[in-house]
Amino acid sequence: MIKLPVCPHCHTIFRYGDVKRIMYKRNAECYHCGKKFKVSRVKFLLLLLMIALVAAIIDAFELWIIASISFWTLLVTNIAVVVAGILVMPFFVRFCVIDK
Ligand SMILES: [Zn+2]
Repeated sequence: MIKLPVCPHCHTIFRYGDVKRIMYKRNAECYHCGKKFKVSRVKFLLLLLMIALVAAIIDAFELWIIASISFWTLLVTNIAVVVAGILVMPFFVRFCVIDK
């Protein structure tokens, strides 16, 4: 099950907008307990693979169903898949305790 990340110290759930704001940082601070944690983007690779796979399946499906599909329709579909992927990015972020 895909969930938004939680603070590794106090398990506060971060909202979508909060995660989006801090997901490109290396370290961030919990707004609830004030402790620092590491922002892990390991799962982004998995997301990237999923985007590529979904795009490929949809392309194949469109080419198979609609014989006279245009290049632009395919392009728009692929962009939509990538945009959807970007929108779900915060769900693939994890917060970890900083190793000392
Ligand atoms: Zn916390």
